[in-house]
Amino acid sequence: MSVGDKIYEGKAKILRETEDPLVVIQDFKDDATAFNALKKGTIRGKGKINCTLSTYFFSYLSRHGIPTHFLSQESEHVMKIKRLQMIPLEVVMRNIVAGSLAKRTGLPEGQPLPKPVLEWYYKRDDLGDPIVNRDHIRMMGLASDNVLRSVESLARRINDLLAAHLLEKGILLVDMKLEFGTDSKGVVLLGDEISGDTCRFWDSTTKEKMDKDRFRQDLGQVEEFYQEVFRRVTGHD
Ligand code: UDP
Repeated sequence: MSVGDKIYEGKAKILRETEDPLVVIQDFKDDATAFNALKKGTIRGKGKINCTLSTYFFSYLSRHGIPTHFLSQESEHVMKIKRLQMIPLEVVMRNIVAGSLAKRTGLPEGQPLPKPVLEWYYKRDDLGDPIVNRDHIRMMGLASDNVLRSVESLARRINDLLAAHLLEKGILLVDMKLEFGTDSKGVVLLGDEISGDTCRFWDSTTKEKMDKDRFRQDLGQVEEFYQEVFRRVTGHD
């Protein structure tokens, strides 16, 4: 592998090698997919917005004691991150009923949860990322109990920090998906991205959707709402 070589290309990002084996480039694309890639499209300006918004959130979390893979933003849509051994789990934190939780429980979308709910999903595209519990995770040997304890404690702190911070900016953090990995010393760090692709953001007054659900549900004004979240959170246009 040499500098610039593709390590992995996902739906919304490309990972590339750098001169340092412990550092990789995360390049954010404008491409968008939903429903396990059955729906495909482009959201103009999304790469820049998601990269810069993720930079903002990772920096904010890091100042509040959360270890992340973020190193630096290199350009509008490119960041340098630490190379992690990713844990094959998606951790969803929920504050308000929406999406698959509404479908699974019959609870009405928009109902606030008395306390945040954490869910584990097994990251396997070919299986459709099924929901799993700790016994399943243990059974498959996906992560040790110690690592799971660290991930759970980090996910809950991240959710509390971001929900409170976003509320000050007029945004409800309905739910979000987080991914974690371990660095070369075995320390658990937050990875991936935090953006309108991976979180549900609602306007705190109107409850209008301001995230990827606009694309998933064909609600229109997708770019405009990505831009509006960006403006409210970072203070820049
Ligand atoms: N999510 C994600 N990637 C996925 C699945 C979900 O980023 O592959 C995010 C999604 O944007 C939402 C949260 O995780 O913020 C919870 O999603 P949910 O389980 O409700 O699934 P969905 O309704 O998106 O199918």
